[in-house]
Amino acid sequence: MRLVRSVAELRIAVRTLREGGKRIGFVPTMGFLHEGHASLIRQSTARCGATVVSIFVNPTQFGPNEDLAKYPRDLEGDQNLCLRMGVDLLFLPEVPEIYPTGFSTTVEPGRLAEPLCGQFRPGHFRGVATVVAKLFHMVEPDLAFFGQKDLQQTAVIRRMVRDLDMPVEVIVVPTVREAGGLALSSRNAYLSTEERQRACGISQGLFAADAAYRAGERHPERLVALALERIRPISSVQYCEVVDLQDMQPLLRPVDRPAALVTAAFVGSTRLIDNVILGQGPDLHESGTG
Ligand code: AMP
Repeated sequence: MRLVRSVAELRIAVRTLREGGKRIGFVPTMGFLHEGHASLIRQSTARCGATVVSIFVNPTQFGPNEDLAKYPRDLEGDQNLCLRMGVDLLFLPEVPEIYPTGFSTTVEPGRLAEPLCGQFRPGHFRGVATVVAKLFHMVEPDLAFFGQKDLQQTAVIRRMVRDLDMPVEVIVVPTVREAGGLALSSRNAYLSTEERQRACGISQGLFAADAAYRAGERHPERLVALALERIRPISSVQYCEVVDLQDMQPLLRPVDRPAALVTAAFVGSTRLIDNVILGQGPDLHESGTG
């Protein structure tokens, strides 16, 4: 596995990997890697001849009062995981490499970025879209892998790829969970043991609503109420909504199209997000660009 820190080195290393016609798979991350990231990497190594992973805690996607300064890091552990998993190239840029002095051009994701997390994290998806666009231009991957856990992010990135004609296929990988249902997240490191147990109520709420959906319930407000029965007692809820899977807009009428139940909630001072695609089996979440 090769470690590179500059864009120039990265471009040369990717060019070498591409020689011989290898497909390039790309997994962008903010590090503190866990089994969720590993699942993305596994998909990439299975489908591509070479896999590039980036670790970059992107400052432009954090709000002024968010956790940028204390975001968990473990470079050594991350390197070991990537090495074990057969990653070919690990890109570890510093902030000035990505945002040189005078940087001023951004990608504005528009309507998809407005509801849900966009409402509570102004500018977040602009930061995400901008950094992912830049990373796509640097790596020029054939396939790029993202987790369903960040569902709105996957919608924003798919839209950007279509709107800006980026020659990359976006693959969404199902959410990896702990045995109790809690979606793996680097931010789970902030939770105490007791909070971690409580946090399982979030996925339990989502699963209860999904079970009702499978049994025929189609009213968004009843599905949301069912989820909140479990989520509200254990957390402070920011949002919990049924949304159209394509455009992320809240569905106010009975669900008649692919939809997801999405939530963000604070357990103690830790903000967690999670979602389920309604009625979709756990092995059906992956799909290509479209
Ligand atoms: P992050 O390092 O949190 O920015 O995440 C990097 C990528 O890993 C994103 O595409 C996430 O959606 C994905 N990811 C994070 N947690 C999980 C999980 N529990 N299951 C699957 N993918 C995940």
